[in-house]
Amino acid sequence: MPHTTTVIVGAGHCGLAMSHCLAARSIDHVVLERGEVANSWRTQRWDSLRLLTPNWMTRLPGYAYRGADPDGYLDARQVTAMLEGYADVSAAPVLTGTTVTSVRAAGGGYVVQTDQGTWRAPTVVLACGAATVPAVPALAGLVPAGITCLTPAAYRNPAGLPRGGVLVVGASASGIQLADELHRSGRPVTLAVGEHVRMPRTYRGRDILWWLDAAGVLDERYDEAGDLVRARNVPSMQLVGSPGRTIDLNVLSSAGVRLAGRLAGIADGVAQFSGSLPNVCALADLKLGRLLDTIDAWAGAAGERFAPTFVPAAPLGLDLRSGEISTIVWATGYRPDLSWLEVPVLDRKGRVVHDGGVTACPGLYLIGMPFLRRRKSSLIDGAAGDAAELASHLAGQLDALAGRCERSAS
Ligand SMILES: Cc1cc2nc3c(=O)[nH]c(=O)nc-3n(C[C@H](O)[C@H](O)[C@H](O)COP(=O)(O)OP(=O)(O)OC[C@H]3O[C@@H](n4cnc5c(N)ncnc54)[C@H](O)[C@@H]3O)c2cc1C
Repeated sequence: MPHTTTVIVGAGHCGLAMSHCLAARSIDHVVLERGEVANSWRTQRWDSLRLLTPNWMTRLPGYAYRGADPDGYLDARQVTAMLEGYADVSAAPVLTGTTVTSVRAAGGGYVVQTDQGTWRAPTVVLACGAATVPAVPALAGLVPAGITCLTPAAYRNPAGLPRGGVLVVGASASGIQLADELHRSGRPVTLAVGEHVRMPRTYRGRDILWWLDAAGVLDERYDEAGDLVRARNVPSMQLVGSPGRTIDLNVLSSAGVRLAGRLAGIADGVAQFSGSLPNVCALADLKLGRLLDTIDAWAGAAGERFAPTFVPAAPLGLDLRSGEISTIVWATGYRPDLSWLEVPVLDRKGRVVHDGGVTACPGLYLIGMPFLRRRKSSLIDGAAGDAAELASHLAGQLDALAGRCERSAS
């Protein structure tokens, strides 16, 4: 059975960042990847998707964007190429085409079973992604037959959908981008809106992410967050990677997208929407105002404010059997898939319990989850700090193990 010091599961940007930090400490390791490097960007992104973070924010340990367009936004193919290049330059020891099928504790370390053989290691880093599988609500099972259902991970472009109206469920980054694209393709679109994070693309002449970065908002630490559980569940920002272009609900509804409240149920083929649309919009406006106040306080000057979200008369029901809707896009988020983890670190909902990526099982780490150690942990730009700190903890764990071995030998 091959042995290494650390097994990293997953060769997305987090696994590669972790590999870079371990290599810098001369910690022997292997990165096991079921597909190829940047598998998620190759297989789970729609054609028009661009990062919503500007190129200058595409920073990883030992890598910074040096192209000609720092204020542009990479598309999925460019992200893939960037990560491939990063893996090459870092000489990351990636074994592609290797699916991890179980991880279990044994003999003071871990046994990592894969479809290509079994590894043994005292430490394991789970870098297998927070957005591995779409999180589709159970009520999707009540959709009448004949309606095509898909998720953003499977969606590629409007041409792949049957003719007719589309119901997009969820108004975070994926939902608003797909509602916009499908509406532009000439389809009638209804957007079911729940809790969301309204965000202008630019503020006071700069990209909003420049302000969030400069004012330190994205650097807020997990051990300083007021309500960490809530902070870890905040939806993604309503942004699109297009210079100067804001897509919020005002933009969408004035273009002709029909807004509805949160999809609360489906009964006898009728989609039922919550009447909470005015409230969730008012809340999103309020939170945006607070965020801009924070930026203004940092900048020492007041900036513009945006018009409140206009809430049109919204339907409370939509008959899915009428033929008006031919497709439902479940833009309801993603979740990790750790169904193969046989170490007792999961809570009732199957989520890994951790303290900033450090689990209660010594030597088992997690990276890439929302607000793991910082508000920006789920962004590419968040991996550098998180990986450096976890590598430091992991090195300490190895020292402790080595100390224990020396003591027992003497
Ligand atoms: C639609 C979308 C848009 C996003 N846009 C941005 C953006 O604009 N800017 C930004 O900074 N971030 C963005 N993100 C967030 C984040 O950067 C990505 O989700 C990123 O892919 C996460 O990186 P990761 O390394 O944590 O996980 P992933 O990239 O998902 O990598 C995990 C890897 O683990 C592998 N894996 C999983 N299970 C196993 C297993 N059992 N065995 C072996 N390998 C396994 C997978 O194949 C995958 O390659 C976006 C996310 C999504 C979903």
